[in-house]
Amino acid sequence: MPAKAQTPRRKIPSLDALLRSEPGQRAAETFGRALLKRTLTQTLDVVRAGAARGIDPPEDDVIMARAVGLASSAATGLNPVINATGVVLHTGLGRAPLPDRAAKAAVRAGRGYTDLEIDRVTGARGRRTSRAELILTALTGAEGALVVNNGAAGLLLSLAALARGKQVLVSRGELIEIGGEFRIPDIMAASGAKLVEVGTTNRTRPSDYRGAITSKTALVLKVHPSNYRVVGFTATPTAADLSGLATKAGVPFLYDLGSGLLDRYPGVPADEPSAREALADGADLVVFSGDKLLGGPQAGIVLGRADLVERLRRNPIARAVRVDKMQVAALESVLMAYATGAHGDLPVWRMLEEPAERVKRRAERLARSLDGELEGAHVRPSEATVGGGSMPGYAVPSWAVGVRVPDPEVMSARLRAGSPPVFCRVDEKGVVFDVRTVTEEALPDLTRAIQYALEGDDLADE
Ligand SMILES: *Cc1c(COP(=O)(O)O)cnc(C)c1O
Repeated sequence: MPAKAQTPRRKIPSLDALLRSEPGQRAAETFGRALLKRTLTQTLDVVRAGAARGIDPPEDDVIMARAVGLASSAATGLNPVINATGVVLHTGLGRAPLPDRAAKAAVRAGRGYTDLEIDRVTGARGRRTSRAELILTALTGAEGALVVNNGAAGLLLSLAALARGKQVLVSRGELIEIGGEFRIPDIMAASGAKLVEVGTTNRTRPSDYRGAITSKTALVLKVHPSNYRVVGFTATPTAADLSGLATKAGVPFLYDLGSGLLDRYPGVPADEPSAREALADGADLVVFSGDKLLGGPQAGIVLGRADLVERLRRNPIARAVRVDKMQVAALESVLMAYATGAHGDLPVWRMLEEPAERVKRRAERLARSLDGELEGAHVRPSEATVGGGSMPGYAVPSWAVGVRVPDPEVMSARLRAGSPPVFCRVDEKGVVFDVRTVTEEALPDLTRAIQYALEGDDLADE
């Protein structure tokens, strides 16, 4: 048998030795001993796993540097980044950027005491969401409104409150997944409602629903397939069809709109449903997100029949999914932008509605500012997307700056690691910066970040 002392595993320092070392003590002072201990443990786990595969463990100072890196990113917290992907509602980058006013309202609410749940006139206890709900009903004509933590919570609560232990009809074409952990069948199961699949993936007719309705049916659900689109030989009942059907059967019709378009605005594709229209078409309840097309903070908004909203409000899950005061403050501010006809000033709508000509001029400015550094920068047409599970297959004409580099993946990794971090697109020839999602004010920072990522290295062509 070969001597065990020769295996790489032996050379790995102990957690204690690293914590007691001079750099360990200094790092513990900066980040706190608990955090450093945790990141050292994680780093040592990786090193041990490597050693088990025969990889020589790195020097102690390298191990310490990795652990300090992990602790330091936790200590820094979220980093502001530049979104040059052209995806307006990028879930990985936090979806809708808030307007300044809404962000300030959130900070104000977070920083001090507020009249969150108390009526200032009577001193009586109220609801934290009553102001937002008042504006929502005014804007959409809904009888009742309820604000919860996010769209998924709104759907979960609706299903639990209206259909626990009973059947819910859904088209097979709408059993969608929105991001890894959110699938309609799973959320249905979690709510205690029983899923009854209706029709086929590409075609579902009103008669399919009629055939599936029984005395056990509690709800008809329609889900906006917000991140994909079935094209070709397709059929799906309209909201009005389903409303008629549900009314006849004496059960509510719930429409999960996903994207949160409040009303019909010019330029929005006709097949993107709005809350106002869905309610007018007879939806008893609609559910949507606050941080998609609405352009606000994370929130779930439920609108519709007052009696149903009341049932949701009384369900214990409502308390488990309530919104935080900072969300409430930001949402109130964003809703007031709609109420005063100023929704076009919200960052999401500014980005979506900015004329392509202006986006092009911004791309030209970016290319010019890069020009001194590299020949490979060129302005090119691009297609921005809404993202965040809104308007699938709908591209917004945009403009970008392409930079040819020999290894686009390496360049994009450097941009992500830079300061400020930049997220862009990558194609075979290089990196692409779509400027529809880059504000005018961020342009100098973007220029510097690109120059820095290219610096001291022959990445740039020619
Ligand atoms: C995005 C989406 C949800 C989930 O909303 P969150 O606010 O992300 O929780 C639910 N249903 C549909 C159709 C969606 O597009």
